[in-house]
Amino acid sequence: MSPPDDDPDRSDGRSPGDDGRDDGHAPSDDGRDAGSEAAITPERDRLLLDAMLGGLASYLRICGYDAAYALDRGIEDDGALRTLAAEEGRRLLTRDRDLAARTPGAVRLTEPEVVDRLRELREAGVRLEPADRPSRCGACNGPVERIGPGDDRPGYAPDEGPLWRCLDCGQAFWKGSHWDDVAETLASL
Ligand SMILES: [Zn+2]
Repeated sequence: MSPPDDDPDRSDGRSPGDDGRDDGHAPSDDGRDAGSEAAITPERDRLLLDAMLGGLASYLRICGYDAAYALDRGIEDDGALRTLAAEEGRRLLTRDRDLAARTPGAVRLTEPEVVDRLRELREAGVRLEPADRPSRCGACNGPVERIGPGDDRPGYAPDEGPLWRCLDCGQAFWKGSHWDDVAETLASL
């Protein structure tokens, strides 16, 4: 059986939220351009996207964030969003000015386009770099585990290369063209 969400990955000893850097540097204080000022990182922050911001989910998950989407969780109204954010320790990302003002730690986004919203996030201190390997399901935000060499590979997956499987919905993932597209978009911000 698979380990729970926050157990160390048996294959390499890293936790699923780990960004994979094993060089001993502090994650946010090693002078890298994009990371040096980041106040919000996948290691420290869990996120909650309001109903308007679902388009950001796959970007944030590829960056390693535990990024829950309100509609996936069946909630839409402000009170339920604030409750979920508080209960799960999630930082709320929202387009709603009043809701942002009333929710501690919330980040308010104003732009209509995804790329511009990503730029807003970076300006707000959110570290946006593709993770070394998938840690969150792009479809449902569940934790993922590596599919071992002896395990069955689903027919829709490539025949070779590392694969991961969502522990919640079973979807398989690999670092394919979508991953590359996201990386390219993030690099262009
Ligand atoms: Zn999933």
